[in-house]
Amino acid sequence: MRLVILGGPGAGKGTQAKLLCSDLGIPCLDMGQILRQRIISDTELGQQAKPYVEKGELVPDEIMIQFVRQQLLEPAVAKGWLLDGYPRTSFQAEELDFLLEDLEQQLNWAIYFNVPEMVLKKRSLARSRADDQLGIIERRIELFYQRTVPILEYYELTNRLLDINGEQSPEQIYQEICQRLN
Ligand code: AMP
Repeated sequence: MRLVILGGPGAGKGTQAKLLCSDLGIPCLDMGQILRQRIISDTELGQQAKPYVEKGELVPDEIMIQFVRQQLLEPAVAKGWLLDGYPRTSFQAEELDFLLEDLEQQLNWAIYFNVPEMVLKKRSLARSRADDQLGIIERRIELFYQRTVPILEYYELTNRLLDINGEQSPEQIYQEICQRLN
């Protein structure tokens, strides 16, 4: 199974991604988390990404596309994967399809957690990540609507969108995803 998870900051992507990955037995590639780790270990990618992540800006597409390519070429993900937080722009979504074509793989579903803006803000403020401060959260939410929401249409037109009401309890959300994946 090959899945991408889409949703604004605080939409509940991480929680559902972990459940799905453990039930489906597939590795979870959480782009934001990988970037944060690379920043801490001060790798070249970490140095490139740091100024963007700290401000809540998107890391440039060219950097992300290269990075995802490397990740998906790893033998450990040959049988399936879940990408959490990728793609975040239309360009990334299209490039992912090109990459998958090269790899003779197909994306099964793009799962979108639909949550109102106010809820995204409230939930993000309740976390304690360095980039979860009000100004940065607002910027990340703004970028989500500007850059990521347009991707939904791309996946809808290709019949790969699972639009989930992200305001339900985590248990209800998970149940709905499982029903709709079958
Ligand atoms: P997240 O943990 O998914 O909220 O991501 C944290 C930060 O990592 C984001 O605010 C961006 O700076 C960066 N990031 C994560 N995924 C992407 C992506 N697909 N494209 C660009 N930047 C990203």
